[in-house]
Amino acid sequence: MGTTAQIGVTGLAVMGRNLARNFARNGYTVAVHNRTAARTRALVEEFGDEGDFIAAETARDFVAALERPRRLVVMVKAGEPTDAVIAEFAPLLEPGDMIVDGGNAHFADTRRRERELRESGIHFVGTGVSGGEEGALHGPSIMPGGSEESYASLGPMLERIAGKAADGTPCVTHLGPDGAGHFVKMVHNGIEYADMQLIGEAYHLLREVGGLTPARIADVFRRWNTGRLDSYLIEITAQVLSHVDAATGEPFVDVVLDRAEQKGTGRWTVQIALDLGVPVSGIAEAVFARSLSGHADLRAASRGLAGPTPRPLPEAEADAFADRVEQALYASKIVSYTQGFHQIAAASAEYGWGVDAAEVARIWRAGCIIRAAFLDRITAAYEADPGLVSLLSDAEFAREIGRAQDDWRAVVSAAVAQGVPAPGFAAALAYYDGVRAERLPAALTQAQRDYFGAHTYRRTDREGAFHTLWGGDR
Ligand code: NAP
Repeated sequence: MGTTAQIGVTGLAVMGRNLARNFARNGYTVAVHNRTAARTRALVEEFGDEGDFIAAETARDFVAALERPRRLVVMVKAGEPTDAVIAEFAPLLEPGDMIVDGGNAHFADTRRRERELRESGIHFVGTGVSGGEEGALHGPSIMPGGSEESYASLGPMLERIAGKAADGTPCVTHLGPDGAGHFVKMVHNGIEYADMQLIGEAYHLLREVGGLTPARIADVFRRWNTGRLDSYLIEITAQVLSHVDAATGEPFVDVVLDRAEQKGTGRWTVQIALDLGVPVSGIAEAVFARSLSGHADLRAASRGLAGPTPRPLPEAEADAFADRVEQALYASKIVSYTQGFHQIAAASAEYGWGVDAAEVARIWRAGCIIRAAFLDRITAAYEADPGLVSLLSDAEFAREIGRAQDDWRAVVSAAVAQGVPAPGFAAALAYYDGVRAERLPAALTQAQRDYFGAHTYRRTDREGAFHTLWGGDR
């Protein structure tokens, strides 16, 4: 065992423990610490043979075990616990030391913490970590913000423990100063919500309109997973749908209560998009769909409302319908990534982060929940044109979505006609039609604003702001 550790991890619940093991398995000596010391002892007892750990019972021992400049990873509950841990450790640190917050922090908190610690010369490195507990152990996608100097010290270690894409490159990059890393992680989670909602809608339509059983739908997802939708979420969807409940013999999906919970990063994505003025309607519908699912009283009170009873298609048409749903899913997915990348670009401009969109797509290719073959294409699009205003304007994506749009419209029409909710598909299509429209009814909206509030309007034929003296009874 080394006498000093190259890195320390405090907070040894599922994420911290697995991250510490990942560092140790990669040859680093890792100091480990947890508020409740039993967790520290348990880690070393269970996994001590995986590498070099230095177990520290007190904050002082933990800090003393770290080589300088110290690299201290905090993996505790986000929010106040993170502030408490920083308050405990910062006085024990020296200028040049680094505190890496790997929790799911709100980027505004990260900006505040970075500012507060900068005065004492401590580098605060807000870092998104995705991939859940398995990712933390085997190679997560890592999204660090913070100073260039901190990345120079931490980068090589993070590259060792990060997930590796098919071409072998590690899924980590320095995203930009202060809150950039946590912002990108938040949008990753927002896109994850959208991906999951779109998959849910595809499943629902295949079942209600396509007339397929969960087992047959699992086969459809398995097939999709060999094509352009190849991704972790499609893969696990096939597995969930083919799973049979041991107690009842029913498809597992039928015995799970249809209420989706959420922890908050999807909601933050939408809240912040509203502040930035970026339309992320696909992500918002995904957050609202989870929220709707959880309102048991509302749903019970609404159950008797009139609507069509879905009539499944004849068996002979099911395969063709599944192909159309694939087009709708793919097109809607392109839209939600377009929206998420727009949000990252807007925040990067607002806060002066200089986030490289191609790099964001690159580090999401492995280790994280939204990992997908498709991300290579996004990287290529932004590499070809780093100033791309919208993913939809990339020639390749524009061509694909153009080819998909007839089927996409047919699927949304079928959902509407049959009374199957498809808010993600429909919102994505409305966004597509909105951004490509020559004229929008916003002209009328602005005229109304001028009518009742003298807010003025701009004209298509002349520069300047105009106000009309509206007559009539008001
Ligand atoms: P968690 O349940 O979020 O947090 C538990 C850990 O926080 C324990 O080590 C606990 O110490 C410590 N803690 C709580 N309050 C504390 C306080 N006031 N002072 C000191 N320590 C305190 O753990 P987790 O699921 O492993 O997640 C860790 C972080 O990673 C979170 O920010 C989470 O959002 C983020 N994250 C989680 C996942 C995931 O899949 N779970 C994925 C990505 C990111 P005690 O043992 O003493 O209670």
